[in-house]
Amino acid sequence: NLNQRVEIHSNDEFNQLANAFNIMSTKLDQVDIQRKDFVANVSHELRTPLSSIKLLSESLLHQDTVDEKVYKEFLSDIDSEIDRLNNIIDDLLSLVDLDKEKLNLNYKVTYINHLLEKIISRLKPISEEKNIELNYIEKAKIQLNIDKNKIQQAIINIIHNAIKYTHENGNVDVILYSDNKNAIIEIKDNGIGIPEKDLEHIFERFYRVDKARTRNTGGTGLGLSIANQIITLHQGNIEVKSEINKGTKFYIKLPLDNNVSLD
Ligand code: ADP
Repeated sequence: NLNQRVEIHSNDEFNQLANAFNIMSTKLDQVDIQRKDFVANVSHELRTPLSSIKLLSESLLHQDTVDEKVYKEFLSDIDSEIDRLNNIIDDLLSLVDLDKEKLNLNYKVTYINHLLEKIISRLKPISEEKNIELNYIEKAKIQLNIDKNKIQQAIINIIHNAIKYTHENGNVDVILYSDNKNAIIEIKDNGIGIPEKDLEHIFERFYRVDKARTRNTGGTGLGLSIANQIITLHQGNIEVKSEINKGTKFYIKLPLDNNVSLD
């Protein structure tokens, strides 16, 4: 039973212990609520594409003759929904992995410059499809002690978003520089922007500003929470500034001397 509480009547050590117990108990309640919310969210997110698939396949099955064109169209929709399910499951597995791997990151001293070049060349085809100019601006050469694959995933998620939420012919700049304490990777787009009231929520699991719109872009609502978790594991943080219809800037900050893990 997670709702146990011990009543406190005086202020001796026994009561301090009771107090600590009550605080722990409250924390456990919160974790339990979060876990239930998460399972409910996951179920809902998985059910949405499944319902579409069911509807599409039933509709095909119940028609005696189906025009070849309609048939192809429906199958292609089913195919996209399956991709969507796969994306959600991949992202969920990443999240579970990150929870497990907290203390088990594969740290290596890496030039962030090289990593960014590689990421940009991987994302170029996606930006070119929308005729978006994707630029890499290098203002410093920086080595960091990081788990390269994880950091790559975090940066890709954020640049990919910048491309997804920017109109055709837009611009996405990726700028690398540093202040005294941090390497800073700035990802700047001139896209649709994020409303002020949503800014504090975008790193939450499954949070999307506009569900209908992001569903079309293939988003799972998990990309930013994965990125945030990875950067936090590296003792860094992500900041965001945005103006609606003007664009968004994400700042990934990673400490220059994260000696914590140099052993
Ligand atoms: P999704 O898979 O939906 O993209 P994310 O966790 O990556 O989920 O992002 C959460 C939400 O934040 C997105 O649904 C989108 O509404 C908003 N968002 C993220 N990046 C940007 C951006 N560069 N410009 C505008 N909106 C963004």
